[in-house]
Amino acid sequence: MSDAITVLNAGSSSIKFSVFAVEDADLRLVYSGQAEGIYTKPRFVAKDQAGEVIDEKQWPDGERLGHEGALDHLVGFLKEHTNQYKPIAIGHRVVHGGVEFTHPERLDAAIVDRLEEFVPLAPLHQPHNLSPIRLLFDLVPDLPQVACFDTAFHAGQPELAQLFAIPKEITDSGVRRYGFHGLSYEYIASVLPKYDPDAASGRAVVLHLGNGASMCAMKAGHSIASTMGFTAVEGLPMGTRCGTIDPGVVLYLIEQRGMDVREVETLIYKESGLLGLSGISSDMRVLQESEDPRAGFAIDYYVYRIGRELGSMAAALGGLDSIVFTAGIGENSDFIRERACRDAAWLGVELDTHANAGGGPRISTPGSGVSVWAIPTNEELMIARHTLRVVTGEPGVNHG
Ligand code: AMP
Repeated sequence: MSDAITVLNAGSSSIKFSVFAVEDADLRLVYSGQAEGIYTKPRFVAKDQAGEVIDEKQWPDGERLGHEGALDHLVGFLKEHTNQYKPIAIGHRVVHGGVEFTHPERLDAAIVDRLEEFVPLAPLHQPHNLSPIRLLFDLVPDLPQVACFDTAFHAGQPELAQLFAIPKEITDSGVRRYGFHGLSYEYIASVLPKYDPDAASGRAVVLHLGNGASMCAMKAGHSIASTMGFTAVEGLPMGTRCGTIDPGVVLYLIEQRGMDVREVETLIYKESGLLGLSGISSDMRVLQESEDPRAGFAIDYYVYRIGRELGSMAAALGGLDSIVFTAGIGENSDFIRERACRDAAWLGVELDTHANAGGGPRISTPGSGVSVWAIPTNEELMIARHTLRVVTGEPGVNHG
């Protein structure tokens, strides 16, 4: 009987899961799926490794299943469908580990209490990441749970990249740049040597372009700068997040427009970015298909900001050997990749339009001064790898 690891990625309205079988120290995906709309229109779907639906359930509209009900259902599914495996652990994506948690961590109630302290730093993600952990302490008390942090990959950045120009006493209280999407970048760093050994040992900028979006400058596979900062709202414009904004705007909105903190939070996290610019949608596919000039402007803005931030990442690296596109937009939108690469011609990028239209993985010409790749990310596999190492106590993982 193989061991199995379940990976959970819990958000405000959904819980995504993947189950990996541990076979000869390798991880093989056996099931994946999600419970979505858990407070509005709950639906559960699970698929096998071939993508075939093996279990599905829909609840009546308006039923509030919540995290608790969704987990109950998920645990029931796992008990029924994974009896040929021995569950050995659950790995969680946790967005914020603060300064303290820079490695995957086996969880107990005291650690979860400490992780609660980072809720104000990631108000839209952290509470939902943590809620299933507490529920699972009760539902499956004997199963080890491991947290993997989106901030951890960036922990080794130089201080220059991490600090804000504010008084030291405030910096020391934890107000600094953390960077996010670390599990995605770590995965890309782990596979890049297979695609392009020179780039992997050199200077690469990875563009994680999904609903959330950021970039990471990597030197020899290590993060040295990132566009996201104290929270996951800095940097590139995203689906609904504004990205970098003059902090004076926030003060103005509060002082002159009488907005309170919650209203500003809603504005910058949920009503801005592609949605705010276009007034149409946060979804890049919808914008690409729209004829509305506002959709075109939102895309122009998105590409323009990618260009600006790419220049900044290349400067931090002192040059550029490769660019990697990943996540929903980065992996699937040849249109955005083409436009971003066209704007990066000054850095030595020469796009192979045919390869780009075909999805890559290499999308630059053989003579391009910078190699460009479209590589699918796999945060779940990264979490499963970490979780396996933590529970088996394999070397290479610092549990501290
Ligand atoms: P993620 O958060 O990684 O799932 O990415 C979600 C984003 O990827 C959304 O804005 C989607 O519209 C976008 N996306 C997915 N597929 C495509 C595609 N074929 N073309 C353009 N955007 C896409």
